[in-house]
Amino acid sequence: MSITNAAYQKCINPDCGAEFDCSESFFKCPQCGELLDIRYNWDKIEVPKKLSDFAKRWASRKNRLDFSGVWRFRELLNFCPDKYKVTISEGQTILQQNDLVAKYVDVKPGRLYLQYEGLNPSGSFKDNGMSAAFSHAKMVGAKSCACASTGNTSASVALYAHHCDLKCTVFIGSGRIAFGKLSQSMDYGAQTIQIAGDFDDCMRQVQDVCTKLSLYLLNSLNPFRLEGQKTIMYRIIEGLGWEVPDWIVVPGGNLGNSSAFGKAFYELKQLGLIERIPRMAIINATGADTLTDLVNNKKLIWNKGKVNNKIIDDYYADLTARNFSPHTCASAIEISRPVNLKKCLRALDICNGVVRAVTDEEIVDAKAIIGKYGLGCEPASAATIAGLKHLRAEGVIAADERIACVLTGHPLKDPNVTVNYHKDKQGEFSNPPIEAPNDLDELIKLIK
Ligand SMILES: *Cc1c(COP(=O)(O)O)cnc(C)c1O
Ligand SMILES: [Zn+2]
Repeated sequence: MSITNAAYQKCINPDCGAEFDCSESFFKCPQCGELLDIRYNWDKIEVPKKLSDFAKRWASRKNRLDFSGVWRFRELLNFCPDKYKVTISEGQTILQQNDLVAKYVDVKPGRLYLQYEGLNPSGSFKDNGMSAAFSHAKMVGAKSCACASTGNTSASVALYAHHCDLKCTVFIGSGRIAFGKLSQSMDYGAQTIQIAGDFDDCMRQVQDVCTKLSLYLLNSLNPFRLEGQKTIMYRIIEGLGWEVPDWIVVPGGNLGNSSAFGKAFYELKQLGLIERIPRMAIINATGADTLTDLVNNKKLIWNKGKVNNKIIDDYYADLTARNFSPHTCASAIEISRPVNLKKCLRALDICNGVVRAVTDEEIVDAKAIIGKYGLGCEPASAATIAGLKHLRAEGVIAADERIACVLTGHPLKDPNVTVNYHKDKQGEFSNPPIEAPNDLDELIKLIK
């Protein structure tokens, strides 16, 4: 038995279903153009009998794979031999129980958890996916790679690319990227190209560039990336003492995370490693709410893979006709044509999920609360708490349910949004700096 046979790629379109070896590299099904999944022949993999068996890897954390928060769960993403596995110690993240943030969203004490992915090497959850995708890039012998990015993908790709000696080009929309993220891709040595356009334009261009020049594509179209992102869910379960929460709340941008999370739970259930699948809430920004509109208003559903393409095509044609460009201060989710839309519909089906959109005002207020009472996060991540507040008010989520919100990125990624919020007293929780004379008595009077 060769290890590559334990995993294969399969088209998600049930009318196609084409299968390919993992030694091949595409970013869409070469036969029908749909998304590809990584599938496993579980009978060929020695998966631990219970999830808590993974805990023993803490004892051998001097082993680089056991130390990685991704590869610690390697049997559950068993697509490449160990020698190709790339890690820079991603996934050392924490699940923080937070009663003060819980109070803000009207959740009972002890029931709200924040999965803080800002602790990753490049400061966002993207590193989970990159360790997996770069491992595949190594396995197929890629020499150069590229991605389109709202910022965090480029930061993560740039970091992993120089770590594994791949040439790297990142495409970002002109003027759309948060400063912290832009500084990273330049500092980590990536060739950084700013396209006169938005993320959706970058996403279209990068696919053509990668095809023409045979570059390895690292956007979440890449099914191997999503395998790495599954591990965020394993770590939440780990943080809960190997119990499953009632709800997962995640921001929705290109919908890679939500897609990966649904797949993670489906597989765990299939393997008998969990007894029930949590529900999932995906939160858009109102200025980039394609998923919310398609699911809640146009009633788009997974339908066992037979998705009504006409609804999507008409929707996108209308966006084009209106020359629509998404706008939100949460730049990481400023996307109007999410590439993983169909996989996300599947995840919603698996997790009995719901979708909501929140305004930028709600996002920055929630962000200030997470900063004040938690570990902080970037705007897109705060959409989770803003969305949870909606879902609590609606009664969709009950006050005593156990909820895990995924805080996808570090607060220093986007200092501009934070400083503007506080300095210009934009919101209820603004904490502006106080101007003071250079005088001891005056200063003493000011201290509260
Ligand atoms: C990429 C990103 C998102 C969006 O995630 P998707 O998987 O594309 O939906 C959300 N938050 C942050 C901080 C990100 O970097
Ligand atoms: Zn296909």
